[in-house]
Order: sequence, then structure tokens, then C-alpha cells
Amino acid sequence: MQQENFQADFAIIGGSGTLSLDFPKNISDADLISEFVFDTPYGRSPTMRLFSIEGRRVITCRMHGWRSGVTRANASRQIFWIFREAGVRKILSEGGVGTINRLLDPRDLLIPDDYIDLSVRKDVMLDGRYLLVMRDALCPTLRKNLLDSARRSYDGRIFDRAVYAVTDGRHFESPAEIEMLNGRADIVGQSLAPEVYLAREIGACYANLSFVVNYGEGLTRAWSHDTLKEIFFYDANLISNILVNTLRRIDLDAPCECRKLRKETLLKDVYNSESADG
Ligand SMILES: [Zn+2]
Repeated sequence: MQQENFQADFAIIGGSGTLSLDFPKNISDADLISEFVFDTPYGRSPTMRLFSIEGRRVITCRMHGWRSGVTRANASRQIFWIFREAGVRKILSEGGVGTINRLLDPRDLLIPDDYIDLSVRKDVMLDGRYLLVMRDALCPTLRKNLLDSARRSYDGRIFDRAVYAVTDGRHFESPAEIEMLNGRADIVGQSLAPEVYLAREIGACYANLSFVVNYGEGLTRAWSHDTLKEIFFYDANLISNILVNTLRRIDLDAPCECRKLRKETLLKDVYNSESADG
């Protein structure tokens, strides 16, 4: 596919919330334009979908681009490389999370406003051209859009802030790990980083919709795999509708600081000599 044909202002990174759907075919007024795969500097991308909704062009991928045989770091770099080539400016992601805060329950929705990255994937970047300031890393304007959309669609509990702890997975966390995080983060999951860094690197706004699928180990009570399955299959349309209705409401020209929080690095000579696999 030629470059001019996949330009898009918006992207949705699908996670476990929309995995059981053939997203966006479940949205009646979404027009699927094409499916494409790219050979990126980080390997061949997963299948990406380009669709339009109310004239807005959107790129989406399933399950954060994760596949077996591809490192999580490269899976993320592949999709963000494509977003950059496509000129994406606003990115929404979704995913299930476990609890750390004892007040949370399965099916609570949260829109994180900060994070702690405990993953061991470091230096995950595209070309290292920028110094990335991670203040307001989750775009306040996009978060407000997500909150408005969630409130219109969901009568359960919605929290407009949360600290998201990022772990590597794919296993869940141990009781001792949850205890260590207790009081420092509210929810734990595996997808917010490195996406939040890569979004800042390409100069795009990024926000995330998290929904609780399990209690952190040792916190409240043992969680049920049946509950997790129910959320996975029956709440997918809710998550999908919140994301798409958010897209409809985003003002591309609404003011925010995201692009100003990436600065030209002073370390150009260091990064220019590194390979794409560095
Ligand atoms: Zn922003």
C-alpha cells in the first residue's frame, strides 16, 4: 500500500477488551478501508486495519500487536513506526488490569493519569532523536474525552485517575509483588509501557482505558477465572463503544502540551550511530 493511502489522524490499540470482537466490524457506521502489513525496521508488522468513521481515518491493531516469536519491544516499535509514517496524532489504547488498590473491583473502569514502569524492557525507542519529558504522559485532553464517553455508556464505577504499574508478564504478579506496589500504584498491567514513551516520541497524544478483570494476588480475595472470561466476551462491545465514541468527540486542534514535552536530544551523536535493533 502506498504511503498516501494509509494516512490517519487517529489510532486505536486494541487489547483484551476488544479481542473477542472483529473490531471495528461490530461498529455499524465504521467503514473498513483496508487491511495492510508493513515491513518495518523492527520486523514485519501484524495485520493493521484502516477504517473511517464520520470521515475520521483510524488505524487499529489487535492485542497491542503482540504475537509469539516477536519480542514485546519490537511488537510495540512496529506499530508505532507505522503510526508515525501514517501521521497519527491521537492514540487510544485499552486493556484489562489487576487491582493493587483494595477499593477496586472487577468491572471498574479507570483512565490512568500516571504510571510506574517496572518492566525490564528499557531503551525501547524508534530513533532516539528526542528527550522525552514524561510529565502528563497520559494526555489530559484525551483523558477528558475518554471520561465523557465512558460516563455516557457505562453506569458502573469510573475513575478519572489511577497510577498504572507496568510489569512484563505474561504471568500475573505474585502476592509479594502486589504488596510491594500497594500504596504506590492502583492497578497493574502489561501494556502501558513502552506505548506511552513511543507515543511521546512520535509526538502523538496517548490515553488509556483500563478495566479491572482480577484482584491482585493476596489483596482482597482470590479472583475468578469465570469473571475474567465473562468480561472478555460480554463486555467487549462496551469497551469498543467507549473508544469509538471517544474518537467521534476528539477535537484535533484542542490545546495540550504533549508535543512540547518532547525536546530535541543533546545526545545526537550517540543515537545516530545505533542500529534499528539497538
Ligand atoms: Zn495531548
